Amino acid sequence: MERFTKFKTMIFPREVIVGHNTTDQIKGICNHLAPSTNVLLVCDKNTKKISGDRIEKILSGAGYEVNMVVLSLPLIKRDVLPAWPTIREVNTVIKEAKKTSSDFLLGVGGGSVIDVTKCATYELSMNFVSVPTSASHDGMASPRASLKDKKGSISKSAVSPMAVLADTAVIMKAPYRMLASGCADVISNLTAVKDWELAHRLKDEEFSTFAASLSTTSSQLLLDKAEDIRTGLEEAVWQAIKCMVVSGVAMSVAGNTRPASGAEHMFSHMLDSTAPGKALHGEQCGVGSIMMMYLHGGDWQLIRDALKMIGAPTTAKELNIPKKKIIQALMGAQKIRPDRYTILGELGLTEDAAKKLAKITGVI
Ligand SMILES: [Zn+2]
Repeated sequence: MERFTKFKTMIFPREVIVGHNTTDQIKGICNHLAPSTNVLLVCDKNTKKISGDRIEKILSGAGYEVNMVVLSLPLIKRDVLPAWPTIREVNTVIKEAKKTSSDFLLGVGGGSVIDVTKCATYELSMNFVSVPTSASHDGMASPRASLKDKKGSISKSAVSPMAVLADTAVIMKAPYRMLASGCADVISNLTAVKDWELAHRLKDEEFSTFAASLSTTSSQLLLDKAEDIRTGLEEAVWQAIKCMVVSGVAMSVAGNTRPASGAEHMFSHMLDSTAPGKALHGEQCGVGSIMMMYLHGGDWQLIRDALKMIGAPTTAKELNIPKKKIIQALMGAQKIRPDRYTILGELGLTEDAAKKLAKITGVI
């Protein structure tokens, strides 16, 4: 008889609360995490004002010992692009958690604050609650985090949050550009899954049908709802957040980022080092996804049109990135993660191929 040796571990958030004015439910969530009583709240100056102070008040009133660490993540451009977090911020949080003998962490903020909290939690072997105040990428519920190092952005192992608390009334007040970017990040799952299928067929890479269908379902839902994703509409935040959470869960099912990160993400990571601070992660992935879908022979116009409808960039100009940098990023993308097989193959694109691809899809 054949010996069956497969096994798999999947770690999911235990509670996901999405909706209008849900911030007050933080007390209930923390009570469920009992016997924890000593919370370290992680935020930045901006998110402290938006939700941090309110949460501190609620939890202190409920008998928790609450300490707060306010990260200084300088803004790159006006109020939209926060600087990428580095290992320095992660260490600040770890130090503070130890100093205050905290039992668990609460990440209150945009992608950067949540990524820092996630990495610190992983190092500390603790739990954390993710409280997004904006939604510019799908990391609020995923087990991976992005940090910056000397070479650009790197993806790090982290933990899935124990709970996600997304208040649509709060997230709606964040610049709409961020939400559109988060939606583009989810839509880009379509090409990530195609790359994963390719790696499965050609490289025998382990493939999860469940993770892939969760991932593409979240993209499909956004394609179907693209008309309703617009500024000033809380319903749009509601739809988008649900898709971002499911996209994160797909990564938990897979146990890696394959369901949500393929060649379009490598292209985006490449831009992070060659054209830093110009566009948001999700915006770059969306544009990357248009081009990678063209290479896969799929319906790339569908992706482009949905991004346009949502108000996410579809061209180099809209990304505020010079054409030359787009070509460079396309040519260098494969080198970002040579171990991850994608439509770019093992050698990547030549300059001629990159130019042709960007032109034909209208990106340059
Ligand atoms: Zn992403």
